[in-house]
Amino acid sequence: MSKDELANKRWMALPGNIRMELVGNVFCRNCGVTTIIDYIVGSENHKIVLQGKCEKCGAPIARLIE
Ligand SMILES: [Zn+2]
Repeated sequence: MSKDELANKRWMALPGNIRMELVGNVFCRNCGVTTIIDYIVGSENHKIVLQGKCEKCGAPIARLIE
């Protein structure tokens, strides 16, 4: 299993309401706190990373899940 697949598996193992909370609480440099859309799940330094776009302005944003 690749580390991205592993990260995806760990992400999906989180309770749905926790995932919703994290997706809806991402920082965008244009909008402040926003929702991330069209995101992919990857990994960085053994942490889960969501990479996608801001729901409001479309700028690329990312969130590290501790
Ligand atoms: Zn934005």
